[in-house]
Parts: sequence; structure tokens; C-alpha cells
Amino acid sequence: MKISEILNRKAMTISFEFFPPKKVENEQTLFNTINVLKDYSPDFVSITYGAGGSTKDKTVEWTLRMKNEYSLNPMMHLTCVASTKESVDKVAEILELNGIDNILALRGDLPEGFEVKSMDFKYAYQLVGYLKDKWNFSIGVAGYPEGHPESSSLDKDIEYLKMKVDAGGEFVITQLFFDNGKFFNFLDRVEKFHIEIPVLAGVMPILSLSQMRRFVGMCGATIPSELISRLEGKTKEDMYKIGVEYAINQCRELIDSKVRGLHFYTLNKYNATKDILEGLNI
Ligand SMILES: Cc1cc2nc3c(=O)[nH]c(=O)nc-3n(C[C@H](O)[C@H](O)[C@H](O)COP(=O)(O)OP(=O)(O)OC[C@H]3O[C@@H](n4cnc5c(N)ncnc54)[C@H](O)[C@@H]3O)c2cc1C
Repeated sequence: MKISEILNRKAMTISFEFFPPKKVENEQTLFNTINVLKDYSPDFVSITYGAGGSTKDKTVEWTLRMKNEYSLNPMMHLTCVASTKESVDKVAEILELNGIDNILALRGDLPEGFEVKSMDFKYAYQLVGYLKDKWNFSIGVAGYPEGHPESSSLDKDIEYLKMKVDAGGEFVITQLFFDNGKFFNFLDRVEKFHIEIPVLAGVMPILSLSQMRRFVGMCGATIPSELISRLEGKTKEDMYKIGVEYAINQCRELIDSKVRGLHFYTLNKYNATKDILEGLNI
């Protein structure tokens, strides 16, 4: 089912993001995770496209499995990096044949030394436009409450977000963030740019400070210093408790502010997402 249609009739969506396991031995972890999290009736699940197109075929395979084996409503991530018009059409044809209705259209991170000029699609808005003109998917796009790391300012980034929306983007899913104030500020600016599509909040609890420092270093998000102080020097178990409790409070405030969706970055594990949803009584 098209995510745009779900968003038209529901005040708030719940969704889970998974990545295609590279090794067969890790598939069991994902099976277990899906089996637990499907009980929370997600409105959709999304399957990432490995950096540089590294999981191309696996992403398609897992997108189909989510629908055929688990009766979930999947959204496939697709990037400009490693895509040509021809390869996009091929993937779109498979998705359409299998009744998959949703694509998250992204640029992808540019691998070092990557020849941008050689790409059929340089920016996500071009991929969005191509998909919109030729195919009939509900198309999501990425948004960055703290700005994309390559952009010169948040307003410039939102100007480009508007191009993705004008090209056919129907909803935004944000990068992870830990300061709701930054998300609310993003929503205000989005409104000022006359972007009227739903913005779903990307949620990821901190379960390991060192791992999260690496993540935020790559994606341009920040961890509030007060939260860092609470996490520093803690055992793994204590860090888990603090991270989950923080995410519950963060989500509660987002729900109270009428957020249009909570999109959980699960990293293929169920514990933290399950504990957050239980904490929220969802
Ligand atoms: C929810 C979510 C899911 C993601 N899933 C994946 C995934 O599965 N696989 C993956 O590889 N990556 C994924 N990413 C990461 C994403 O691919 C990177 O953040 C990437 O660097 C930017 O992608 P984008 O679609 O936002 O690009 P764009 O919107 O094209 O923006 C990229 C940069 O170019 C700038 N820009 C945009 N348009 C223009 C223009 N016309 N002129 C000049 N500058 C412009 C923007 O400000 C930004 O700095 C995801 C990110 C999010 C938030």
C-alpha cells in the first residue's frame, strides 16, 4: 500500500528500517527481529541500499521477502549512486510486478574519488523526478534536522529539500537526531519554505556511545552534551537503560507535538525498538 495513502488517513505512522544482511549467518537475526516487531503492526518497513550500491540485489530480494513472507508493507531505498536510468527501470519493473508501492529516493553517500559527472542522477531530486514521471510509486525523501553535512546552511539544505518535494516527493523521513528542539526548528523552516508533505522523525536510541559517535560523525547529527555526560563511563547495561529511556521521552514529546510518524532505525535488532514501543504503550 502506498505510504502517502496511509499518511492521508492516519495521524501518525510507525515504521521500522532494516538493512539486508551481508552474511547468511546474520539472516537469522533479522528473521527473529521481524518476527518480534511485526506484532507492533508497522505501517511500513524500509530496506536500505548499501553504500555505493553494495547491497543492490539483496535490497531488492529483502524488499520482496518482507511482502511475500511477512505480509509487511515495504519501502525500498534506492540511491543515485550506483544507479543508471536503465538500472532504475529494471528495479522499478520488479517492484511493480511484485506489488511494491514505495521507494525512498536518495542520492547516497559518494564513495571517495567517485566520478559524479558520470552519474545519470547527480542529486536525489533528479531520481525523484525520473521515478515520478515514469512510474507509479509513493516516493519518500530524506531530510536533515541539523542540515546535511555537505550543505552550507540549513536553509540551503531545505531549499534543496523543496526541489525534491516539487519533483514528486510525498513524505520526508529525517536523519536521526537527539534534540527535539532541532526537529521542531526544522519543521518551522520546512513550513516557511511552503513544504506541506508529512515529515516522519527518524529515531535511533544510543546503545553504545562510541558507536553513536561514529554514526553522528558521518551523518552530521549531534549528541547533546548533557546526554553524553550521562552516558560516559557507564556499563553496557546502564548505557542501554539510559539510551532507551531517553528515546522514550524523546518520542513521547514528539507524539505530544503531533509528529506524523516515528521511523525506527533498528539496525536489525529488536530489543531497543520493542522496549521503546512498550514504554510508549504502542
Ligand atoms: C531516512 C534516511 C535513509 C537513508 N538510507 C540510505 C540508504 O539506504 N543507502 C545510502 O547509501 N544512504 C542512505 N541515506 C544517507 C543519504 O544517502 C546521504 O545522507 C546522502 O549523502 C544524501 O542523500 P540525499 O538523498 O539527502 O541527497 P540530496 O537531497 O541529493 O542532497 C545531497 C547534498 O547535495 C545538496 N544538494 C541537493 N540538491 C542540490 C542542488 N540542486 N544543487 C546543489 N546542491 C544540492 C544537499 O544540500 C546535500 O548537501 C539515508 C538517509 C536518510 C535520512
